[in-house]
Amino acid sequence: MSRVLELARPEIRALQPYNHAAWEPHLERLHANEMPWRAQGDNSVAGLNRYPEPQPAELIECLAALYGVEPAQVLAGRGSDEAIDLLVRAFCRAGQDSVVVCPPTFGMYAVAAGIQGAAVKRVPLRRDAGFALDREGVLAACTPDVKLVFVCSPNNPTGNLVERADVEALLGALSDRALVVVDEAYVEFADQPSFSEHLADHPNLVVLRTLSKAYALAGARVGALLAHPDIVGLLRRIIPPYALPSPSVESALALLGAPQRAFAAARIETILAERARVAAALRTTPGIKRIWPSDANFLLVECDDVAAVLEAARSANLILRDVRRQTGLEHCVRISIGTPEQNDRLLGALAGAEVAG
Ligand code: PMP
Repeated sequence: MSRVLELARPEIRALQPYNHAAWEPHLERLHANEMPWRAQGDNSVAGLNRYPEPQPAELIECLAALYGVEPAQVLAGRGSDEAIDLLVRAFCRAGQDSVVVCPPTFGMYAVAAGIQGAAVKRVPLRRDAGFALDREGVLAACTPDVKLVFVCSPNNPTGNLVERADVEALLGALSDRALVVVDEAYVEFADQPSFSEHLADHPNLVVLRTLSKAYALAGARVGALLAHPDIVGLLRRIIPPYALPSPSVESALALLGAPQRAFAAARIETILAERARVAAALRTTPGIKRIWPSDANFLLVECDDVAAVLEAARSANLILRDVRRQTGLEHCVRISIGTPEQNDRLLGALAGAEVAG
């Protein structure tokens, strides 16, 4: 067992997990109080009358192959949101432990910590340095109560990658002290490889991936946590027993074959080309002050008048993300890259409206 488990809550390590109905598909199931027939009209593969396989082996293998890791390093959950929640619950004692987040960033880290009763220490990204990580600030914040450090790369909503050297420095300095959770929800849109290639070197590294973005499966709610097998094993003990609904598993398996992955790769190329085109067009749009470089499928944009930009988009039947409440983003909106037609419609609406301050 690796030392990293010593960071987990002692009561979670000692927990007797729920004893779910054994998964022995060659036997006929009279052990789970299910109906023996399908619901009328149920034409799913597995039959919705049956509880799904916990951590379905075929999906785990598929995700492991997709992300280039071993199946024992994969926990599948309902989006990466579930992985964030499980990490906080397994590693942070309510009222005692803390997490570090680097705002402006994805809000669920702080929400999950709040639900668990863990404190949130905020070390803002350095806006004047392209939202780079404040490496020294994060290390200084990592007192013994800090169990998780969340690093989002590419970061939502700023779009930038975090410097690899910064993450490596955190992994080294915190090796026996805290997990470094690198959330790579958008990494397929970036020109850097995933951090998962470093998993073998760092038992305190956790990488979060998702099918929601690049693979166009947000509705299926399938995400993956990649980590040392001991961490995966611990979290498998606390994830709800039948977490992944069988229609989600069936969809993911059906839609992650080689042809679909090639199709997804082509769609990513289109998004990258559109990202460059939209950014260039916004640069010449009156009222748009700044567009940050993005390694994701969205742009962070500073405007003279955010309300006017949001309103102009609405008038073209488009909704943008108002991020004004986030640290350092008082005059910003986040724009997801859409289809070429949607992007044209947005650019036309912004050019035609009085969005200049
Ligand atoms: N991480 C980041 C950075 C995100 O932006 C999101 C969704 N917006 C998630 C995780 C959660 O994604 P999901 O639960 O769909 O995998």
